[in-house]
Amino acid sequence: MGKTFSIISLGCFRNSYDSEIIILEFSKLGYRFLPSVSLFTDKKNKIKTIDLLIVNTCGFIDKAKEESIKIISEAIDLKKKNRVGKIMVMGCLVKRYQEELEKAYPLVDSWQSVVEFRQDFVKRDKSLFLSSIGFLKICEGCLNRCSFCAIPSIKGPLRSKFKSEVIKEAKDLEKKGVRELNIIGQDITSWGKDLKGKEDLASLLKGILRATKEIKWIRLIYTHPKHFNDSLINIIAKEGRICKYIDLPIQHINDRILKLMNRGIAKKEIIDLIDKIRKRIPGCVIRSSVIVGFPTESEKEFKELLDFLKYIKIDRLGAFIYSQEKGTQAYKMRPQVHHSTKKRRFKEIMEQQQEIAREGNKRFLNKELDILIEDKDSGMFVGRSQYDALDVDGMVFLRKKGLKVGNFYKAKIIDCLGYDLIGV
Ligand code: SF4
Repeated sequence: MGKTFSIISLGCFRNSYDSEIIILEFSKLGYRFLPSVSLFTDKKNKIKTIDLLIVNTCGFIDKAKEESIKIISEAIDLKKKNRVGKIMVMGCLVKRYQEELEKAYPLVDSWQSVVEFRQDFVKRDKSLFLSSIGFLKICEGCLNRCSFCAIPSIKGPLRSKFKSEVIKEAKDLEKKGVRELNIIGQDITSWGKDLKGKEDLASLLKGILRATKEIKWIRLIYTHPKHFNDSLINIIAKEGRICKYIDLPIQHINDRILKLMNRGIAKKEIIDLIDKIRKRIPGCVIRSSVIVGFPTESEKEFKELLDFLKYIKIDRLGAFIYSQEKGTQAYKMRPQVHHSTKKRRFKEIMEQQQEIAREGNKRFLNKELDILIEDKDSGMFVGRSQYDALDVDGMVFLRKKGLKVGNFYKAKIIDCLGYDLIGV
């Protein structure tokens, strides 16, 4: 029997995508994949030794770093108990802190940053995507220079995939059974800006739509308001297969903070864009993210953000506590906001948002939605509508027998439990 391996993937969708590529490549090398979850939950040590445990880390913000470090330590404990043979740690955290990590964790056998790993192993075959949900990364790196963000220094400048390559990958994924295609990248609205010619995300989407038929949902993840143009709004409005779900991180609304963040967009432009999106794409759901406690953020500026969110009613919102990242422009900005103030501001935003989200979800009551079934839990089937993205948003619970995971069903929404919905 071949050697076994497992992978623990931390962080965002983009890391999950890389992990799937890694699983594929190790499978090609003759390794047999085993899920990692039982390694940590099986206290009776029934799981046989896994020959290789890969930890794909995230080093984006403090919380992600802490989680990555915790998992590396747990992997080392498993190695000491002989439940894991070798450990490979890879990803963003390695790219940023390899030297320190090597010193701190000598029992890790191999350190790889994603980029190096891909150069060595990846041949771009996507036969791994067996489920109905797939991810298609259309670009690497980022051309924006948000002052709080370490991603451009970790991932490098924007590198868009050629249109023909993206379309081929979309067709391959469709053939493998993918019915919800998530288009991902650090900022997908920048796609094509580094390529010769005048192609943009809208024209890329047209190409994908023309080349595929069975993919029912195309979901756009991580669009930058600065690059969100009219042609993109038009194609989302017009094409039934593109989810009416706009993932639009705004990060803040106060003009002085937006400038310090180097977001390249001002308050009025953000408000106009949201108004335009809502007018031209009626019923669409907007997800966004904001940062609280950015250096120098005053109480008045925070209040401006809070009031704006109350007024604009973003449907799905992620708030993040500013994390001081070495090597970023904001690292040296003074004064940094005290941690207790950041925490209090975060709490205020999230408490306000709970009510907004709950109220917003009520608009689905008595509506019929298409639901993609993902799982079965305590006798109920669990799925999502086009208005919720995998892992980050709410779910729809269906009390019905005989449904098939991976299929779409129509359901009437009869109840609303905060972020989640109940359907029949
Ligand atoms: S758009 Fe800004 S926040 Fe997003 S990856 Fe690029 S630099 Fe970072």
